[in-house]
Amino acid sequence: MDTSEHREQRSCPHCAEVIPFAAKICPRCRQWLSFRSFRNPTVFVLCVLFPMTISVVLMGAWFLHQMQKVFSPAPYYSDFQGSIQILDSKMRWVETSEGPRLFVTGLITNRSQMAWKRPEFECRFFNSKKQMVDAATGYTYLTILPENDSAFRLSIKPLLSSNEYDSLKLSLSTAYSVHGL
Ligand SMILES: [Zn+2]
Repeated sequence: MDTSEHREQRSCPHCAEVIPFAAKICPRCRQWLSFRSFRNPTVFVLCVLFPMTISVVLMGAWFLHQMQKVFSPAPYYSDFQGSIQILDSKMRWVETSEGPRLFVTGLITNRSQMAWKRPEFECRFFNSKKQMVDAATGYTYLTILPENDSAFRLSIKPLLSSNEYDSLKLSLSTAYSVHGL
């Protein structure tokens, strides 16, 4: 038997026909024998079609997510006014190393079924004659869960001397939806 001729032939793994060693497709049963070509349907599915399908699905999911943001935006606090209420507030004058500060501390409660974050407060300061002498806005990076209380502290830079600040009126101007952003 001629060994060099024998090495140039092999049997097809699909139909057992003796075929040329270098054949990429079996000449008898037309099965692909090489995985080095994208024309092999198995290689095409694994290396081209499958990754492409995954990309299309991911892009579709991202697109749907964006659409959802457009058509159902995060709720605005203005539509839920009054759901956060201030239970208690106090102010304290403190001389810090960076100058005087008015620390406004208090407690808020969330009466809504939604979680809110970063509440913004409007502070009005009055003197002993009940005249408004200063105003400031303050916010804190807290999250207040549905039907829950949360304590807060605002640090405000006073414009006037400590004897001008007799009382405080605090209101909540806005907050941000946790489910948004
Ligand atoms: Zn074959």
